[in-house]
Amino acid sequence: MSSSAVAMVFTGSGHPLERREFDVPEPRADEVLVRIIGCTLCGSDLHSFEGRRSVAVPMVLGHEILGRIVAIGPDAARVDATGSPLAIGDRVTWSIVASCGRCYCCQRKLPQKCERMLKYGHEQLRPGGEWTGGLADYCLLASGTAIVRVPDQLSDSVACPANCATATIAAAIEAAGDLRGRRVLVAGAGLLGLTACAMARSSGATEVICLDTNHDRLARSEAFGATRVVGPNELASMIAACTEGRGVDIAFELSGSADACESILGSLGLGGRLILVGAVFPTRPIPLLMEQIIRRHLTIVGIHNYAPIHLKQAVTFLASGQQYPFGEVVTDWLPLSEANHAFSLARNPASLRIGIRPGE
Ligand SMILES: [Zn+2]
Ligand SMILES: [Zn+2]
Repeated sequence: MSSSAVAMVFTGSGHPLERREFDVPEPRADEVLVRIIGCTLCGSDLHSFEGRRSVAVPMVLGHEILGRIVAIGPDAARVDATGSPLAIGDRVTWSIVASCGRCYCCQRKLPQKCERMLKYGHEQLRPGGEWTGGLADYCLLASGTAIVRVPDQLSDSVACPANCATATIAAAIEAAGDLRGRRVLVAGAGLLGLTACAMARSSGATEVICLDTNHDRLARSEAFGATRVVGPNELASMIAACTEGRGVDIAFELSGSADACESILGSLGLGGRLILVGAVFPTRPIPLLMEQIIRRHLTIVGIHNYAPIHLKQAVTFLASGQQYPFGEVVTDWLPLSEANHAFSLARNPASLRIGIRPGE
């Protein structure tokens, strides 16, 4: 394969993405070459594009990628991360991080923080390292990437966000512990929050209260399993009323807002757990009263990215959670050539995800 193909290159905030052509590589060793089917724009792509988050440029953004295998390196395992056979032509998703399996972090069961990681949609371009982002025709899957074959019944729109939003929430749900019979508060009704509502309900939570400042986003969360919705001003009274004044067992912070974090910390009951996921950019500090953490037996957990097991759980969940309208999360699909326009559409808070597809 010595043809060239297109990648849309990000050179810094304030500059439009640049169309560039690079040679299509032949996978070596255990690399796998994937033709991209589609890539959805995640909140963090938008943060990078708009300069709220610093990334090493030039680079190719996009990590919620779905692809079809077009070539497999000579040493690659012919099975996916679940043990199913893997072959050319298979539609696949893959872990956002390729990990080495040997470093300090990998040995401590944190492959998502691997010291030698390759993170798709986050890598600076280098010769031979052009195909790492989703806003392109191809992606070259590196050694240490967990690949999961996507069941045929999952549409592209449902499957695209699996390796970021869904897998991250699978990790957050695991950190929450057993949710059967538990009362859960979800702050933020973006795709992370909607996914958390659906997964918490599917995991047996009896009450799932969704908090957001936007009425339309709250209304949508009910279709994803929220049992109650609430704005910030009514939060305290709602929690008191629906928990006999005891507070919730679990609160997921998925909005990244320090105000939301303070409110939901105050909503936790005895033995409550606060799972922080949303603030992947600098925020103001929030006050923490040590005595309250101690006397109320609170636990605060941070979750960043996820391990391969969570990607498997994400795909299994999406394949089984068909009662939730995940098919509606991608509000528009645009061709790769219109990637710049896609970012302007993604700015609209009403659009959960904008998808981008390479041309023919
Ligand atoms: Zn993401
Ligand atoms: Zn490692």
